[in-house]
Amino acid sequence: MSEARIIDGKALAARVQEKVAKAVAELKKRHGLTPGLAVVLVGDDPASQVYVRNKGRRTVEAGMRSFEYKLPADASERELLDRIAKLNANPDVHGILVQLPLPRQIRTSAVIDAIDPEKDVDGFHVVNAGRLMTGRKGLVPCTPKGCILLIKQVRKTLEGLQAVVIGRSNIVGKPLAHLLLAENCTVTIAHSRTRDLPEVTRRADILVAAVGRPEMVRGDWIKPGAVVIDVGINRVKGEDGSPKLVGDVAFAEAHKVASAITPVPGGVGPMTIAMLLVNTVQAACRQKRVPVPKVLKDYV
Ligand code: NDP
Repeated sequence: MSEARIIDGKALAARVQEKVAKAVAELKKRHGLTPGLAVVLVGDDPASQVYVRNKGRRTVEAGMRSFEYKLPADASERELLDRIAKLNANPDVHGILVQLPLPRQIRTSAVIDAIDPEKDVDGFHVVNAGRLMTGRKGLVPCTPKGCILLIKQVRKTLEGLQAVVIGRSNIVGKPLAHLLLAENCTVTIAHSRTRDLPEVTRRADILVAAVGRPEMVRGDWIKPGAVVIDVGINRVKGEDGSPKLVGDVAFAEAHKVASAITPVPGGVGPMTIAMLLVNTVQAACRQKRVPVPKVLKDYV
């Protein structure tokens, strides 16, 4: 069997970002609308700071407005909810993202519930989760949305394929399973209590790993010719002792068996921010009751 094709998430994300910039230029010209994204960071987790900085930079590069708010690590839930209420009421802000994880004194569910579902560009609000589950249009979580686009780089139609998603979080696993179902896949969701996981994954034409365990999925867990999407981001020590990122899939082994695979880094990660930009444009258009520019038709 020949080696798997690498699905280049970085390149695809760059193409999406270019289209977002075109859409934003069109919205400005035709409707005087500049989409705005507010990102709220609580505390000083270094990884979260990097994510927030990148999101802000990409938003501005796409021609949109970026609003950044930083609250101290000991901020109260009330303070954060007050900030969200102000953003909900601000007509220049079309998308609101609260960077997770939050410090312990703040209930994540209370925060997600407080965001106006029309501005919920992460797609985590129960209203948007319900829309996804019932097949209605809404804001779809960014990482799963990016995964579908990556799969479509190598499979035009997913109809009838066996899809196995490892992981059942509200952020990745569950929404992704619904998106695959909407594509007419036969979907299995596996998790930490799944018995004989390798036997389950070997049935998959499309295998998605969203677990958070370095290189858990081995080459012999994969059906020959499968498409493998690796969502995991794990920081481990490399052979020389320096830190490196690896996914949930043992890449070198999987590469020999799969027909296509996403690398880590450079696969799913870049797509997440690209989809956030798309969601912000989509939210802005819906709030201003203008159509989403055609250039983004494949993404909304
Ligand atoms: P969660 O920790 O919320 O969920 C992990 C899931 O994996 C759970 O459903 C859990 O099962 C399951 N799991 C854990 N151990 C096993 C096991 N041994 N066998 C089978 N299933 C197992 O993580 P997230 O969904 O938030 O994230 C998953 C990974 O994706 C992480 O590495 C994260 O960093 C990465 N990620 C990457 C993003 C990107 O942009 N590329 C965005 C978001 C996440 P159970 O429910 O039974 O506990």
